[in-house]
Amino acid sequence: MSETDGLLDRYEGSLLGVFGRPTLVLEHGDGCWVWDVDGVPYLDLLGGIAVNALGHNHPDLVAALSAQVARQIHISNFFTSRPQIALAERLMNLAGAPDGSRVFFTNSGTEALEAAIKLARRTGRPGIVAMDGAFHGRSTGALALTAKPAYREPFEPLLPGVRRVPYADLPALERALTPDVGAVVLEPIQGEAGVIVPPADYLRGVRELTADRGVLMILDEVQTGIGRTGRWFAFQDSGIRPDAMTLAKGLGGGIPIGALVTFGGAVSGLLAPGMHGSTFGGNPLAATAGLTILDVIARDDLLANARRVGDGFADAVRALGHPLVTEVRGRGLLRAIGLAGDFAAKAAASAREAGFLVNAVTPNALRIAPPLIISAKKIAAFVDALGDILDATASEHS
Ligand SMILES: *Cc1c(COP(=O)(O)O)cnc(C)c1O
Repeated sequence: MSETDGLLDRYEGSLLGVFGRPTLVLEHGDGCWVWDVDGVPYLDLLGGIAVNALGHNHPDLVAALSAQVARQIHISNFFTSRPQIALAERLMNLAGAPDGSRVFFTNSGTEALEAAIKLARRTGRPGIVAMDGAFHGRSTGALALTAKPAYREPFEPLLPGVRRVPYADLPALERALTPDVGAVVLEPIQGEAGVIVPPADYLRGVRELTADRGVLMILDEVQTGIGRTGRWFAFQDSGIRPDAMTLAKGLGGGIPIGALVTFGGAVSGLLAPGMHGSTFGGNPLAATAGLTILDVIARDDLLANARRVGDGFADAVRALGHPLVTEVRGRGLLRAIGLAGDFAAKAAASAREAGFLVNAVTPNALRIAPPLIISAKKIAAFVDALGDILDATASEHS
C-alpha cells in the first residue's frame, strides 16, 4: 500500500466526511509545484482554489512570515499592530476607496460575508438581493446568499429576507429592488458557478440601479480580488465603485485572512463600535502575509503577468480546437474550460494522472486558478497535454 492510501484511510477514520475522500496527500511545494507523500510532483494550476497567489514557499512570504512569527503572532483586537494598520491603508489605496472608507478583518471569506450581511441589515431594510448561481460561503448567514440548493436545503430555514434574481439580468434586478431591500450582493465574476463573466456593462448597470434606489452594492471579491483577474479587484475593469467589498482567498496567500472594505463614511458608519468583532481577525501574522502578498504582486507586476498568461492560455486552448471543449471563460488567471458534457470530474482525474492539478468547478467545466507567478511556459505544458487528457476522458466516458 502506498503512503497515500494508508494516510487517506486514516483521514476517513478521523476527519468528518464533508469533503469526501481527498485525492492526494500533499507534503511540500515550491513555486507552482507540489509533491505528494509518495514523491509524485504536480503542476498546481488550482493554487489552493485561487489562494496561493505567490505559489508555494515564496521566498519573500517565507522571510516575512518567519520574521513576524519570531516577533509576534497574535494580540487580540483590544490592541493593534503596524502590519494591521498598514494592510488596511494599502487595501483602501489599491481600491481607490474615498475618504471615510474603512476595513474590517476576518479569517475567511465566509466571515467577510457575515460582516457584509450585518452591514446590510444596518440600512434598516432587511431585504437582500442575491444572484442565481452565487457562492458566498457556508456559514448560515452566508449560506442564505449562496444559491446551490444542495448546500442550502439541509439547513433551511435560513436567514429570511433573501431574494434571488438571475445573474446578469438588470430588468430582473430592477423588479427585485422593492422598498424593503437594503443591499444587493454579487460576485463581479461568478467563481463557483463556473467562472461566469457578465456582459461588460452589467456592473455599471447594477451600480446605477442601486445608487438610484439608495441600496448598498456589495461586491464579493473573495475569489476575484487581489490580482486574480489581472486587476487588483475585478470591479476596476468596469469603472465603478461598490459600497462595500469582501476579500479573502488570495489576500493571505494561504494564511487565513479576509476583509470587508466599506467605501465612504456613510457606509463605514453603519457598523458602530461594539457592533461586530473577531478574536483572530487581522492579527499581526495574517496582516503581514497580506502586506507581503500585495508588495510582491506590485513589485513583480503580477497583474500584468495574470493578464498576459491568462489571455495566452485562453487563446491556446481555443486554438487546440478540441471537439470536447465548448469555450474558455474568465479573465486573467481565473479561467474555466467549458466541456461538451458532464465529465469534468473525470477530466480533472486524468489531468491529475498527467501531473496537473485543476478542478471540476461544475460537472461540465474545469477551472484553473494558478499562482499569479506562473509563466506562460509552465501553463503551455498543460495546454500541450490537454488534448490527450480529454481524449482519455472521452474514451472512458463512452
Ligand atoms: C470561496 C468563496 C467564499 C467563501 O470563502 P471561505 O474563505 O471559504 O469562507 C465566499 N465568496 C466567494 C466568491 C468565494 O469564492
